[in-house]
Amino acid sequence: MLPQAILCDRDGTLIEDEHFLHHPEQIRWIPGVLEKLREWKQQGIQIFVITNQSGVARGYFGTEAVEAVHAQLQQDVEQHGGEIAQFYYCPHHPQGSISGYNDPCNCRKPAPGMFLAVLEEHHLQPNRCWVVGDRLRDLEPGIELGMKAFLVETGYGLQAKQELKGKSYRELVTVISSLAYLFDLDRRGDGVRGRRGEELVT
Ligand SMILES: [Mg+2]
Ligand SMILES: [Zn+2]
Repeated sequence: MLPQAILCDRDGTLIEDEHFLHHPEQIRWIPGVLEKLREWKQQGIQIFVITNQSGVARGYFGTEAVEAVHAQLQQDVEQHGGEIAQFYYCPHHPQGSISGYNDPCNCRKPAPGMFLAVLEEHHLQPNRCWVVGDRLRDLEPGIELGMKAFLVETGYGLQAKQELKGKSYRELVTVISSLAYLFDLDRRGDGVRGRRGEELVT
């Protein structure tokens, strides 16, 4: 079954994880991801970007910088025939220095706020959504809500894969080498297989 929507982390999942990336010129797409986004659009799957951007709370950059990066990402995606349905980001951090952004929030992952907003605003069923990220905190809110979860080995993913071994929900997470290798073998009806050929057990 194809999902209704895929909720993707940004840094380390769609694009290379540059430390506190805040300028469109720093964007480097992970190979194959733009083509994958086009494929998903053709299949009618909605794509959401869900990202923690605590650099705002820390005073490293402003929300306008985050939005400029997202505008560039959207432009890149559209040039390749895909589409991001909406970007969600959390600008907060409890240890931040910028007033208004350093209070506890319900959106910084692993808190579920952004996930709940996507589901409500786009009328999605969580058990028909997938979540993809390079850190366990990207996946945890989705797992809690009943989404199918994929950990990528790009970005922070290799470390997260080690951390996963100690988690009670490890059987619910499928590890894939990159988002570019995530696809659904709809004809077989049983889900997911790496493009490099290996069977992935969920
Ligand atoms: Mg990430
Ligand atoms: Zn927040």
